Amino acid sequence: MAYVYDDQNIFAKILRGEIPNKTILETEHSLAFHDISEQAPVHVLVIPKGPYVTYDHFADSATDAEIVDFTRAIGEVCRIMEVAPGAGFGGFRAISNAGEAGIQEVPHLHMHIMGGRRLGRMLE
Ligand code: 5GP
Repeated sequence: MAYVYDDQNIFAKILRGEIPNKTILETEHSLAFHDISEQAPVHVLVIPKGPYVTYDHFADSATDAEIVDFTRAIGEVCRIMEVAPGAGFGGFRAISNAGEAGIQEVPHLHMHIMGGRRLGRMLE
């Protein structure tokens, strides 16, 4: 699959500083910020700074340094937000919607980190 990255998407604008965000963590290759429309008490989006559309695009095309940085940023967000199992709220869900069937709204890879309450089962 050849991905075409649209640099006018909202997260690209956030990365360029064109629109504000509530940053939780910034690393060399990743940014984490609060979702504007929170679906849970903790709802954070973690994104790579590089131009990747979906997780499979990222996994196939990103450098090892970017992949390690993004993965570690997710772990760090869980610690900061106290949703790691056994600590604070005790559990979270990490989801990355991809493509039309995955109901992806913003075409820049993002991992939703949700927690802070008991989450319902994923049925749909
Ligand atoms: P998707 O449906 O693509 O998986 O999720 C996109 C997410 O981006 C949604 O949860 C939506 O609330 C969030 N979002 C959309 N626009 C903005 C924005 O301008 N700022 C922030 N912080 N989140 C946004």
